[in-house]
Amino acid sequence: MTVEAHKETLEFKAEVSQVLDLVIRSLYSNKEIFLRELVSNASDAAEKLRFEALSDDGLYEGDSALRIRVTVDRDAGTVTISDNGIGLSRNEVVETIGSIASSGTRRFIESLSGDQAKDSTLIGQFGVGFYSAYIVADKVTLVSRRAGLGAEHGVRWESDGRGSYTLETVEKAGRGTDVTLHLKEDEKEFLDSWRLRSIIGKFSDHLAIPVEMAKELYGEEAEQKKDEPPEFEQVNRGTALWMRNKSDITEEEYNDFYKHVSHDFQPPLAYAHNRVEGTNEYTALLYVPSKAPWDLFDRDQKHGVKLYVRRVFIMDEADKLMPHYLRFVKGIVDSDDLPLNVSREILQHNRKIDTIRQANTKRVLGLLETLAKDEPEKYATFWDEFGKVLKEGPAEDFANKERLAGLLRFSTTHSEGSEQRESLDAYIERMKEGQDKIYYITADSPAAARHSPHLEVFRKKGVEVLLLSDRVDEWLVSHLHEYKGKSLQSVAKGDLDLGELADKEEQEAKEKAATEHKPLLDRLKSALGGQVEDVRPSTRLVDSPACLVVGADDMSANLARVLKAVGQSAPETKPILEVNLDHLLVRRLESESDEGRFNDLASILFDQAQLAEGGQLDDPAAFVGRLNKLMLNMMMAGG
Ligand code: ADP
Ligand code: MG
Repeated sequence: MTVEAHKETLEFKAEVSQVLDLVIRSLYSNKEIFLRELVSNASDAAEKLRFEALSDDGLYEGDSALRIRVTVDRDAGTVTISDNGIGLSRNEVVETIGSIASSGTRRFIESLSGDQAKDSTLIGQFGVGFYSAYIVADKVTLVSRRAGLGAEHGVRWESDGRGSYTLETVEKAGRGTDVTLHLKEDEKEFLDSWRLRSIIGKFSDHLAIPVEMAKELYGEEAEQKKDEPPEFEQVNRGTALWMRNKSDITEEEYNDFYKHVSHDFQPPLAYAHNRVEGTNEYTALLYVPSKAPWDLFDRDQKHGVKLYVRRVFIMDEADKLMPHYLRFVKGIVDSDDLPLNVSREILQHNRKIDTIRQANTKRVLGLLETLAKDEPEKYATFWDEFGKVLKEGPAEDFANKERLAGLLRFSTTHSEGSEQRESLDAYIERMKEGQDKIYYITADSPAAARHSPHLEVFRKKGVEVLLLSDRVDEWLVSHLHEYKGKSLQSVAKGDLDLGELADKEEQEAKEKAATEHKPLLDRLKSALGGQVEDVRPSTRLVDSPACLVVGADDMSANLARVLKAVGQSAPETKPILEVNLDHLLVRRLESESDEGRFNDLASILFDQAQLAEGGQLDDPAAFVGRLNKLMLNMMMAGG
């Protein structure tokens, strides 16, 4: 006997019990999915073996006919799902079944809200597959042996799912895994083999691996053969879904396959199924999920497309099959032309893969365009879930920039106060006579964008402005300079060039005012010392006394703030203070003869302008001090 052969009792990692509880509670109304999950694992195990056997066919141990069997023992009250796939070593059992190892999973558990409805949709994304056995079983026994290890290296795992499990080394002649469910007293309906067949037909028809069950025998035949080993027959279709004709596949089958590849319990939002013939033959079946996974913005969030070569599963998360900004797409690509021994390294620089990625990208963009056009409500759902990711697109994918821009949606001053998001096309349609630019403002919150003084003149003239307040927006506008020949223009940068929109008379009046009030502007500039690049009259303002703008080629103040917030350095560019010469406060300054008070007021004007656009003051206490001094002065004057 080896050292490992002893039987030991181990505690589950804390999270396992927590997840288990949740699974049982939230999936109870959908309990037959346990079979789908276990058969799906068995199928994965068979695919893994087939893949490993490509380089070592000794792993087949002389039996390369991969299959899954579901057997029932009525007397014992058990259902067993067996596969002759890759199997698990003792260590692998501890790592995969006994614990939840990945940090992503831990964060998932932290993200649970306690709201059952919400949490149960999360469960789907998380893939608690194996534990779904406990929906119907009060004890689960798993016996497994890894392909390639000797029969004496079998392992037997058993648990009632309440905190601990036992582990024991056993003999197992055949490689692979048997999972036996000891059904709960009130779940005995699953001993009915017809019930099981119908569940398999419903959920597992699309698997390429045959799922077999014992032939049902009746009457005399049953009597005669009762001591013989059962005869098995295949109960699923056993062809990969994606190889079938589109016209033969029902929506439900597409949805079930999606659940198999994605671990998502909700149906997808849309899918595209294409077969490509020619010099680079492949099939792609791609899905857009209806919910974003909780780790969409994780640095190492995995891509969702699996790679197959001639029906053989090669790898999960084949990130070269989709651009990064479409990492939420799930599905499969099955190539007829790649070598079976393709590795991640080979994929990096493979022309066939590049072509497939480009075509996949076009397909998904096409799918989204159709959705946006024909089912705007669904598209709005998509946008809420994945919009921020799609906004990474124009920076990453130069070739599809214009198409991507057409898919973007924004809050704008047009739809203020509603949830409505606007497309650039709709914006262009509403452009004013003489308007030739698409105006936007970036800020670090929707409220800061909405209330920015920079918008005043646009509101007055009824010109729509995009309100950008996602972090990724700065990144977006630094790569998206125009759409359909119209350039995108920040309302807080450079000279405000309203083009034909500008009112000639207004303009002239402003220019006149600038000369007239030059002494005030100069005085303000010297009062603010090195803090500003310049002080000039504003054409942007209506109600506010002042605002800050940056030079046309300078980094926006918002981006500088974003960079600082994430600990990166931003170039120190000085803003320009623009003042509203029509504003009473500014007028009042002109007549201020007390130099000290003038300086205080100038500083307050400058600090206010910073605050109004969501900025932070370098010295807030000084601001408060000046303000209080001013208020006291006023009170004394008044009292
Ligand atoms: P997932 O399938 O999403 O990985 P599961 O909870 O369904 O999550 O399974 C957890 C892990 O347990 C699998 O990734 C696999 O490593 C292992 N496993 C489960 N069932 C089997 C099986 N029949 N054969 C081999 N390994 C299995
Ligand atoms: Mg699974």
